[in-house]
Amino acid sequence: MSVNQQAHTGPPYGQPQPGYQGYQQPAYGGQPLPGIPQSQYGAYNGPMPGYQQPVPPQGYFPSLGFSSKGSPVSLNSDTSSLAPNFIGSLRAPPTSGAPPPASGASLPSGHLAYSQFGHGDVQNGIPASAAPMQRPPASQSFLPGPAPTPVSQTSTFQQYGPPPASVQQLSNHMAGMTIGSTTASAPPPAGLGYGTPTSVPPVSGSFSATGSGLYTPYTSSQGPPPTSVSQGLPLAQPLFPGQPISTQVPGFAPPPSSTGIGPSSYPPTTGAPRPPAMSGPPLPGQTVARPPTSQPNHVSSPPPPSALSGPHPGPPMSGLHGPPPPTHPPQPGYQMQQNGSFGQVRGPQPNYGGAYPGTPNYGNQPGPPPPPKRLDPDSIPSPIQVIEDDRSNRGSEPFVTGVRGQVPPLVTTNFLVKDQGNASPRYIRCTSYNIPCTSDMAKQSQVPLAAVIKPLATLPPEETLPYLVDHGESGPVRCNRCKAYMCPFMQFIEGGRRFQCCFCSCVTEVPPHYFQHLDHTGKRVDFYDRPELSLGSYEFLATVDYCKNNKFPSPPAFIFMIDVSYNAVKSGIVRLICEELKSLLDYLPREGNMEESAIRVGFVTYNKVLHFYNVKSSLAQPQMMVVSDVADMFVPLLDGFLVNVNESRTVITSLLDQIPEMFADTRETETVFAPVIQAGLEALKAAECAGKLFIFHTSLPIAEAPGKLKNRDDKKLINTDKEKTLFQPQTSFYNNLAKDCVAQGCCVDLFLFPNQYLDVATLGVVTYQTGGSIYKYAYFQLETDQDRFLNDLRRDVQKEVGFDAVMRVRTSTGIRATDFFGAFYMSNTTDVEMAGLDCDKTITVEFKHDDKLSEDSGALLQCALLYTSCAGQRRLRIHNLSLNCCTQLADLYRNCETDTLINYLAKYAYRGVLSSPVKTVRDALINQCAQILACYRKNCASPSSAGQLILPECMKLLPVYLNCVLKSDVLQPGPEVTTDDRAYIRQLVTSMDVAETNVFFYPRLLPLTKADVDSDSLPAAIRNSEERLSKGDIYLLENGLNIFVWVGVNVQQGLIQNLFGVSSFSQISNALSTLPVLENPFSKKVRSVVDTLQVQRSRYMKLIIVKQEDKLEMLFKHFLVEDKSLSGGASYVDFLCHMHKEIRQLLS
Ligand SMILES: [Zn+2]
Repeated sequence: MSVNQQAHTGPPYGQPQPGYQGYQQPAYGGQPLPGIPQSQYGAYNGPMPGYQQPVPPQGYFPSLGFSSKGSPVSLNSDTSSLAPNFIGSLRAPPTSGAPPPASGASLPSGHLAYSQFGHGDVQNGIPASAAPMQRPPASQSFLPGPAPTPVSQTSTFQQYGPPPASVQQLSNHMAGMTIGSTTASAPPPAGLGYGTPTSVPPVSGSFSATGSGLYTPYTSSQGPPPTSVSQGLPLAQPLFPGQPISTQVPGFAPPPSSTGIGPSSYPPTTGAPRPPAMSGPPLPGQTVARPPTSQPNHVSSPPPPSALSGPHPGPPMSGLHGPPPPTHPPQPGYQMQQNGSFGQVRGPQPNYGGAYPGTPNYGNQPGPPPPPKRLDPDSIPSPIQVIEDDRSNRGSEPFVTGVRGQVPPLVTTNFLVKDQGNASPRYIRCTSYNIPCTSDMAKQSQVPLAAVIKPLATLPPEETLPYLVDHGESGPVRCNRCKAYMCPFMQFIEGGRRFQCCFCSCVTEVPPHYFQHLDHTGKRVDFYDRPELSLGSYEFLATVDYCKNNKFPSPPAFIFMIDVSYNAVKSGIVRLICEELKSLLDYLPREGNMEESAIRVGFVTYNKVLHFYNVKSSLAQPQMMVVSDVADMFVPLLDGFLVNVNESRTVITSLLDQIPEMFADTRETETVFAPVIQAGLEALKAAECAGKLFIFHTSLPIAEAPGKLKNRDDKKLINTDKEKTLFQPQTSFYNNLAKDCVAQGCCVDLFLFPNQYLDVATLGVVTYQTGGSIYKYAYFQLETDQDRFLNDLRRDVQKEVGFDAVMRVRTSTGIRATDFFGAFYMSNTTDVEMAGLDCDKTITVEFKHDDKLSEDSGALLQCALLYTSCAGQRRLRIHNLSLNCCTQLADLYRNCETDTLINYLAKYAYRGVLSSPVKTVRDALINQCAQILACYRKNCASPSSAGQLILPECMKLLPVYLNCVLKSDVLQPGPEVTTDDRAYIRQLVTSMDVAETNVFFYPRLLPLTKADVDSDSLPAAIRNSEERLSKGDIYLLENGLNIFVWVGVNVQQGLIQNLFGVSSFSQISNALSTLPVLENPFSKKVRSVVDTLQVQRSRYMKLIIVKQEDKLEMLFKHFLVEDKSLSGGASYVDFLCHMHKEIRQLLS
């Protein structure tokens, strides 16, 4: 690898750098963590036992074992006779003049072959200076060779039992395949699998910050950020960015507490006592007498204007997005609608007469109680309005990240980001950009402090990818104590000779090669030339110290593992996959300008047994090797299993042509599953690389094998204390397997095609813990589902992905990361380990105080992700974010981000169902949000009638969104939702970013018939409620997984003709999975809307046509989340009233 050959930015730093050991415990890990078990990555100290795989007890089965004309069943042949041949093959001198790889100590290949597999002479690893090991010459070019040799010397070969029937049966189909001879193997070109040294030029000298003059470092001399303008002022002052919301909802008397929704012990949510030093707005009940209007159950006289919005009452509720008064009939009072959502039916409450602020009646004395009237949904906060307002307010200007604690635009707003020192919100979003200074304040507010991090997020083409910085052999400059990486917030002192760490305050010498003078402001003169000094996000090239076993990694491999049992074959999946792979393999991820991908590929098929394929380029035909003893999985061939696509193209194509034929007549219905993962894992181990398994699987693995499962689905467990078991794996076997996979960097992506329960909760464990993705296509039908599957597969194969990744989040003194959510594995309390991490995966990190923060210094986060790129380059991606800190709760509430809050709360709740009854989890969510809002009401809002619900501007959508989480299939399943669906969604949501959770919980509903066919823009969204639908219109609803096209019964015949190509409503087929391609403006517009949405989402959404009053409409209505749901979920209006009641109870 070329890492060490690139120009240094200065003379090598000769001083001992204890911290430069990268991954060593005290190094990557920051402060040593006594008592924490050594992580997987302890291996970075050099080889450790975990990485020196003991000799696998079962032999690797060389392909030599087959006579050239033999059938696969000849696996029974005397294996011991194979060993010498195999070794010979490995030890053979290069058969061509293939030069050794570009760098690395040249060790005798025979020696090499023993290096990692249990031979004492190299147990302690290669000295760091030895750098990358030379690959074995010639035909072993991508197999470092060590694995097989000692194995084949052992005499403990696996003895195969009689060939299974299926193998016999298949042997006929194998006739066309050449089984055997490896001696003919021509050496692949040297350097196979290694990419060009690096496609990314060093940028140290060439980087120039764009727009650097605009950088606005935060200093105390500059004015406070806008968010602090009203610090210390009564909350009734106009707030940035908007007004506080005070929505009055019916002040119904707290009903006899029969609702059963009260403070829950899960989690402990007892509010901490207010710190005596807390200043701020008057506290109702303390310094301000509660106004008489707070009496429960009073016939509410309208509160005085000042109680609503302080000195700026008019026009009242300007921040609330009800329709303007002219279109809004006077609403002197509200009647609760019937509400059964919380276990009770509330009768009419005629005594409630609270005027709704913002109505023309506002401020008048109430007249006689009006006729009962339902709370107008238009008068409660509208997600659509909030989204539209943010778009129009913030969509036109780029978001410049130079200011500390700036709240970014919403995820639903299109905006450009200019990195000027803080990470883009595409990488990190926080629940609040202003953190309470003390833990007491944080506890009091109950606002979770969390960051949703997407380290490898895809950027729009207009934005710049993180620059790659190469600091040469000495690696990135880091703080000596906490090991934080150089970043814009480090303070250079003593003329630039030292720097003080912004995270731990430790002073570290600047390495000589990194020294630079400071200008008169104390800034390094090369500030704008170095990404790590001026930008929020950048990458460092990692040195060998950051690599496993002190060896630069090999490029990763992709292994395609296809279920060829009866169901898979009969449904057409096997043929579909094989056909697709023929072209898809040309699109493997590649780095920069590389001409071809460095990723190697391998193929396995399986049912009860596994079939490995030798697709070495020198073969005329692929060779199959069957492993029927799945109890102790091993890989029967090394040479020829993982290959370069271009070199082996003919053989691969031939294999993909033959697989569907070979298994066309299979009657094998049973499958294994764990051995498939084990096989992939062993193959990657043998090849000494990281990689990804793409497993295509159809059924519950009931065949006798490790990880065998039984059908334990039981819907009767729903709403019982045992419901949690439905989300838990049925055996710990897969947890252990996941751990092994993570250690190897073996990421598992799972494509499931179930026709019945297959236990996603268990099958998904390895996928989940290795950072992989699950895709599920229930009742897969070729005609309707193939587009969706193929699009998902294409994207999954092509997307940017890092391997063997470890992420750590460092924080400045006062807070620390305490909890993590996402698809990963953790072997200690700080390092998030992922065998693979792709551009769609997010990790949510929660922070807690461990000390006081200060308003002056704020709080800092630094997320460091160490990973191997798709070309095998070891890199560190760094994201920095600075946040404000506050002593006033109002500042916290003014700088919250509700979409991110919901992302966190959903993940928190979805994890909770693993250990607690679902009802407990729901109650805890409600309770926490009630506390958040009650704290605001108590400490930040002006004293006012308890009949009013006052919501902070930034959180006015918290109730509606929270209700969507509560009603989701995981927490409140409808009758049609399967156990597998719930487990699947639970896992999906756990890795979702904020944009995805936003649309998943509150789907986007677009009136297609209102679309402007001449414009590129999407029609304006409407609220998710049936009462918003007109029978004469067509609507589209998307939630990131599905797209529904709903057709009203009264839609004009012409529109139906234009969109569906049929002449009447009754002729529309709801079996359509795509819209017909018709040459008219409406059809084009609708298809373009669908395409636009598909591109925005990380998964291809399933298109479902729903005709009004058709039975599928039930499914559709499930997504009209403002309405009461069939499964008992509350309507938005009802839930808002319920939240109000909860808040009042907390305040009283
Ligand atoms: Zn430090």
